[in-house]
Amino acid sequence: MPAGVEEALSASEVQLRADICEVGRRLYARGYTASNDGNISVRLDATRLLMTPTSVCKGFMTPDMMCITDLEGRKLSGDRGPSSEMLMHLEVYRQRPDAQAVVHAHPPTATGFAVAGIPLTRAVLAEVVTTLGSIPIAEYATPSTMELPEAVRKYVKAHDGMLLANHGALTLGKDLFGAYYKMETVEHFAKISLVARMLGGERLLSQDEVVRLQGLRDHYGITSPAPICPEPSNAEQAECQVVQAPVAPGQRLVSDASLAGLARSRRTIGPDEEIRLTYRELTQLIEDAVKALM
Ligand SMILES: [Zn+2]
Repeated sequence: MPAGVEEALSASEVQLRADICEVGRRLYARGYTASNDGNISVRLDATRLLMTPTSVCKGFMTPDMMCITDLEGRKLSGDRGPSSEMLMHLEVYRQRPDAQAVVHAHPPTATGFAVAGIPLTRAVLAEVVTTLGSIPIAEYATPSTMELPEAVRKYVKAHDGMLLANHGALTLGKDLFGAYYKMETVEHFAKISLVARMLGGERLLSQDEVVRLQGLRDHYGITSPAPICPEPSNAEQAECQVVQAPVAPGQRLVSDASLAGLARSRRTIGPDEEIRLTYRELTQLIEDAVKALM
């Protein structure tokens, strides 16, 4: 930044420019973005946003690269154009007056869930239930078009983190690092869920425990996301969160892969033919049968 320009910026703007660069470095260093992927924005004041420019690697940004827009997306300053996903960011700020910052990235495990069409909505980790609740998947939309903010609109009022089908993930927070840490939590949760599923499936927290964890939000001063829904609603815009939790504690879900395998074998194998189950599938069937008898 040329000498003299920095003096003209407020101390908070200088700090926010530096913070965006730091968040970008972390996203890139952790492999949450590749090449020029991802984008980051923050409210500068009541009418202006500071955001990453288009077509730069988030790992190597400098404070002078940032772009300033108004809340309609009109560029007010900056040598480069604003992020190609600006429309999605604008929609988040419109729908969530409490959101101060937005981070979009393509973390590989969470994006894998988004590509497979598997939302992260099971009650698995106490901390995730308390801080983020559930992480749904916004419907597929062509990146950088108006379709994307429309897909995000459905969930953004009730969720601080969501997956974007066949694309990536989106998080928001009270400040830049808050939004970034939620992206870390989404990816961490996705990794743990993947490992648990490879090991035979998650043991879910009970509904009672989910309610208890929700009660802790006040204790920790967590004002968002929205409360957990007693049951799924068909509202156009989600106002609360759906968390999958069984009534009984410690219930184990039969892994999706085992169920699919069993369904396939039932369709294709004759009554007297031999079928092959893995040891885990057999154990699961016996366990389920014993439970059914109890
Ligand atoms: Zn993207």
